[in-house]
Amino acid sequence: MYSYRADLDALVVHAVQFIASGEEILSPYFDAILHTREERQDYMQEAYHFHCDCPACSLEAEAREASDQRRARISDLKDVIEGWYQETVEPEEALAAIEEALDLYEKEGYNVSLGSWYVYGIAISAAHQDPESVKKWAQKAAARYVIESGRDSPDLRSINIISANPQVAGAWGTRDVRVF
Ligand SMILES: [Zn+2]
Repeated sequence: MYSYRADLDALVVHAVQFIASGEEILSPYFDAILHTREERQDYMQEAYHFHCDCPACSLEAEAREASDQRRARISDLKDVIEGWYQETVEPEEALAAIEEALDLYEKEGYNVSLGSWYVYGIAISAAHQDPESVKKWAQKAAARYVIESGRDSPDLRSINIISANPQVAGAWGTRDVRVF
């Protein structure tokens, strides 16, 4: 995964899985997990002028259809999260959307940017003032950020601070009290 590190003024790349000698390294050019194969292909052709033949884009028939359905559903679930930010979706529904999305990521074999979903869980739990729920999501987020951003990353440091003291989360107490 690529991330710009302001503290280092550098673009840092982290491998999210073991890479075998000689193995091709793949990297998503955009939020590919939110788009069907056709949408991805159109975008890659338009923006980068190439035909993507990664494993996901090379699926055939039923496997392709299943992949497209999972990605369309993940896109819908992202809208559910957005709905919580817009105050049109209940927090319980938004938290359930995170769980479902992560389950679909796993089924899709997509292991990039999972940490950001756990961070939604931190924000929702903190806004509704449930410290135990904040800790639960923060611990999961921390485990992902170690992989995605590195042990020395400022993001990980922030998550660990919130995990130890949920009340310092930026969103703390901005919504009604709930226990999740
Ligand atoms: Zn592809």
